[in-house]
Amino acid sequence: MRNCTLCPVLSVLALVAVPTVLLVAAAPVAQQAKPESTKEWAVHDVNRPQPAMVATPAGKAPSDAIVLFDGTDMSKWTGNRGEAKWTVKDGAFHVAAGTGNIRTKEGFGSCQIHIEWMIPATCTCEGQKGCNSGIFFMDRYELQIIGSNPNKTYVDGMAGAMYGQYPPLVNACRPNGEWNTYDVIFHAPVFKKDGALEKAGSMTVFFNGVLVQDNSEIWGATAHAAKGTYSAHEAKLPIGLQDHGDPLMFRNVWVRPLAQ
Ligand code: MG
Repeated sequence: MRNCTLCPVLSVLALVAVPTVLLVAAAPVAQQAKPESTKEWAVHDVNRPQPAMVATPAGKAPSDAIVLFDGTDMSKWTGNRGEAKWTVKDGAFHVAAGTGNIRTKEGFGSCQIHIEWMIPATCTCEGQKGCNSGIFFMDRYELQIIGSNPNKTYVDGMAGAMYGQYPPLVNACRPNGEWNTYDVIFHAPVFKKDGALEKAGSMTVFFNGVLVQDNSEIWGATAHAAKGTYSAHEAKLPIGLQDHGDPLMFRNVWVRPLAQ
């Protein structure tokens, strides 16, 4: 083998240069491939903050929820003109037909809501008549409440429908005389400063534990026999309940505000 006076130097340079080149070449690829959720925290990082503890007593609101009705009074609600005139009886509140919609005193944007509702066994449902109500998120986006077991009506107006927009994925309604439950994730729409829509709202709805709306994108404010359209509004607005002239009752209502 011939003598090579520069070989030791070249070997050292190669040892330093090759890994450096590899690192420089590999770094951007590794960053691009990194999922969003691991940007700040390594997998199983023991220093990652613990989620807040929430107590979940059976049949009651979670400890961090705002209770809108606990079975005793309507103090969290107001009417169209002054006090809510719906009546409280036997741990539930009842639509006082003809007194108008009610709405929460507090405004909400994106939220999780739990509400239980029942059509009296004595009611007869005929299409949209006889057992109709609804939840109006932000006072304008209706999740239909109506007897649908049995009751045939247009499907975007049956129980679990986003009124005039989406039918429920399945009909999970219980017969009149039995309590039904809605658990809803509502995401409020977002508007630009000029009033244009930046991001549509959405609803995910569990009806008696069954998924009936799967992140359904809201078209706009609910309208009757017309396609809903958006117009800019405040970031927080009341949640309304509809007086459609029918004797529905409600109980165990709570809400958890969500970050947008
Ligand atoms: Mg309705």
